[in-house]
This record gives sequence, structure tokens and C-alpha cells, in this order.
Amino acid sequence: MVYLDNAATTKPCAECCKAVAKAAAERFGNPGSLHKMGILSEQIISSAKRTILNALGGGGAPEGEVIFTSGATESNNTAILGAAEKYSRNGRKIVTTAIEHPSASKVFDILAERGFEVIRLAPKEHEDFVGAIADTVDDNTLMVSCMAVNNETGYAVDTARLYGLVKRANPKAVVHIDAVQGFLKMPLEGDLISVSGHKVHAFKGIGSLYIKKGIRTAPLVVGGGQQKNLRSGTEPVELIAGFEAAVKAYRGSAERFAELKARLLDNLSGMSGICVNSDEKCLPNIINFSVLGIRSEIMLHALEEKEIYVSSGSACSRGKKSGVLAAFGISDRDADSAVRVSLCADTSESDIDFLCENIENNIKRFRRS
Ligand code: PLP
Repeated sequence: MVYLDNAATTKPCAECCKAVAKAAAERFGNPGSLHKMGILSEQIISSAKRTILNALGGGGAPEGEVIFTSGATESNNTAILGAAEKYSRNGRKIVTTAIEHPSASKVFDILAERGFEVIRLAPKEHEDFVGAIADTVDDNTLMVSCMAVNNETGYAVDTARLYGLVKRANPKAVVHIDAVQGFLKMPLEGDLISVSGHKVHAFKGIGSLYIKKGIRTAPLVVGGGQQKNLRSGTEPVELIAGFEAAVKAYRGSAERFAELKARLLDNLSGMSGICVNSDEKCLPNIINFSVLGIRSEIMLHALEEKEIYVSSGSACSRGKKSGVLAAFGISDRDADSAVRVSLCADTSESDIDFLCENIENNIKRFRRS
């Protein structure tokens, strides 16, 4: 099997599986219990929080809180709705982008219905995208929300620069970053940062939200008051243990991904009718390209016959046209034949070569010239 759909989800690593099994066997106490079993579980949670804070800060933990959620969908919902609730007195304008994942963009649809002014900027319209986002911020802006890395193309945003410029334009504006595809791959800065476990070789069903010191937010899930009242529900200690282990064991490297991307592009350059949609502004682990004349689904299933797994655009959109590629200036025709290849530390040269060999075969098989 050649698995090249790591932006959709990753294989849980051995370290994660071991940590989950160990916690399930030995640390199954409720972290809210006052006895020793509870305290042992609580220790897993505090250790995992420290590990995630360190990973966010690239070694030096930023000041703030980490709460565990069921995944980045919940983290994004909590961050955006919570900030809108707590900071609505600061203004009615929200600045975001036209390339957000639905777990953020659909929350902005709801806020727009509630009367907030939601501005969504598209990269195709701005050579300096970060500068354009910051230029849109004014005194009436309560929040800026921007993903660190786009899940369909790998397009990356300098979040430190964005943060600095936004705060210069309006120090009160809260900056939310959906860092699902950027976590562990690039430096991150934000007041609220969403992360997902299953994109970094942990299990599905666990994510986190970083809340910078001094930033207020409201809970999405209320109940027993766990996690300082910010997210009720008994913490999934096993999943949290696995998340921490996966973060510590993460082996992806930008240099390695760049080598593999170069190999893929080199192979593709020898084929006719290929249009590469991921440019130099993109992280090298996500490569989006169009095989003109062959619909994405046809290519995806033909590759699947050879046990090669890629994606057509975003896995979350389940074959529906996402509109995100259009915001990058990619035509409908090219978007219809877009293939997304996403790498992980286990991806090898022979995986890339086998993929390319089969793309070439499928071009001969399906393309009418
Ligand atoms: N944000 C981005 C950029 C994503 O790529 C995804 C999942 O693909 C999510 C949010 C949602 O994450 P989760 O599956 O943890 O809810």
C-alpha cells in the first residue's frame, strides 16, 4: 500500500498506540477523582499540556492554557464562537479568508447570520496576503481568523507576521489560527490556536485549543466544569496520552518533504497536461496538481486499484467542489481534475515513483487526445 493522504489523516504511530494501550491498562482513573488513580490520570493531562505548549512555541512554551477537545472542528468552533461572545463589545467586524476549512468557515456563516460583518479575503486577489488581511483590520474588528496552512494546496501563512501586523492595526483584535496542517511543521503565533491529533499520527477524536494568557473565551460544551470550566466532559486520558506520545515522536522534516516534492514535480514535468497548483508559498508536504482531461475521482479510484491512496481536494468535502481552489485562482476545469498528494515521514522515493508511474499509465488509459 502507498498511503499519500496524510493531510486527511495519518497512521497512528507506534509510540502513540503504545501510550494509549498503557494508559488504558494502567491509568484508567477519572482525572477528576481525588484518589491516587485520579491523580495519575491528571498527571498525564498536565504532562501532555506542557508538551503541546512546548511544541507550539518551538521549544519555549508560550504563556497560556491548552484545553483538550474532540478535534480541531471543536477547537475552531470553541475559539470562534467563544471569542465572538467575549469580545463582541470590541466591534462587529471579523476578518477571515476564503480558504478556511468548513469547521471555521461554517461558523462564520452563523456569525454573519447573527449580524457580524464577515470579510473573507482570497489569496488570488492579494500578492501580499498577510499584509492585505492586516490592512482590512480597523477599530471595529473584534477578530481575525486565518489558517496557518491550507489543507488543499499546502499554502502557508507567516502567522508571526500576521499577528504582529494585526496587533499593530488594532491591539484589541483577537487572532485565531487554525493550525491543523501547520502544527509541528512551522512556527506558530496566535491568541487562539487549534490543533488536531489525527493529523500528527495520534488517534482521531482528540485535539487541542491553545488560549494565550489574558485571552478570554467561552465554553462550547458545558457540564461538570472540567478543564477550568472551558470544556466540560471527562477528559479522554488514553487519547491525550497518545497525542502527547505522537507529538514527542513526530519525525516529519521540511527538508525531507522538499526532496520528495522535487522528485514528484520532476516526474510530473515529463508528462503532458499537468498543472501544478501548489507553488513556492506552499509547505512541501502537500502537493496539489491537476491532470487535465481526467476527473479527480476517476484518477483517485484508478490509483486505488493499485492500492495508492491520494485525495481529490479536501477529504472533508467528500467529492463536493470546495470553492477553496477557486480562491487560489484555480479554474473550475483545473479544479475538477485536481489531485492532492500529502506526505509523511514514512513516505519513500519508491512511493513517489510508483505513484508517478501509475499516473502516467492512467493518462494513457483515460485521456482522449
Ligand atoms: N482544519 C483544517 C485545516 C483541517 O484540514 C481539518 C481536517 O481536515 C480540520 C480543521 C478539522 O479537524 P478534525 O478532523 O480534527 O475535526
